[in-house]
Amino acid sequence: MIDEDEALRIAALGLTIDEAIFQYADAAFEGGVFSDENRTNTRVIDGACIFHNRPGFAGGEGCALHLAAMQDDENPIEYKPSICWQAPLKVDHHDDGSKTLRPWKRPDWDGGLESMAWCCTTKGGDDEALASAFVGDVTVGESLHAELRGLVGPEIAVQLRERHR
Ligand code: SF4
Repeated sequence: MIDEDEALRIAALGLTIDEAIFQYADAAFEGGVFSDENRTNTRVIDGACIFHNRPGFAGGEGCALHLAAMQDDENPIEYKPSICWQAPLKVDHHDDGSKTLRPWKRPDWDGGLESMAWCCTTKGGDDEALASAFVGDVTVGESLHAELRGLVGPEIAVQLRERHR
């Protein structure tokens, strides 16, 4: 989590999400949702995030936080950890107060090691994976408009959306 407020929010959601849409609600109640007392990472159960409902779960596959937000008619970025809704967008904050918006790269995650295999990260020398990770039917300014609003503010997000219409 990026700060204590986010950790508190995720902890509270872990205790309150309807178990009908949260496969590991019992585990969250018994052992919490973080990997340790630093509360920087979500807990891993059977090789995946505690919030990840597995294929076949009756309440819905995927992120239970995302499902809870949809159920509450809220934007998922209000429920999920920042890194989960920001990726694949990354903002670098510079000393002069300016910001640079760019894609996440593998070195941002693990220093360039191969410990994380993820379709949205660039993989050195893998042109096919790289090409498939950065294409879509609509522009990023359109498809990730809500995320861009959260990252760079509504004014710039609208400018980015309009630029390629
Ligand atoms: S989006 Fe984040 S919180 Fe949700 S299942 Fe994936 S890693 Fe966990």
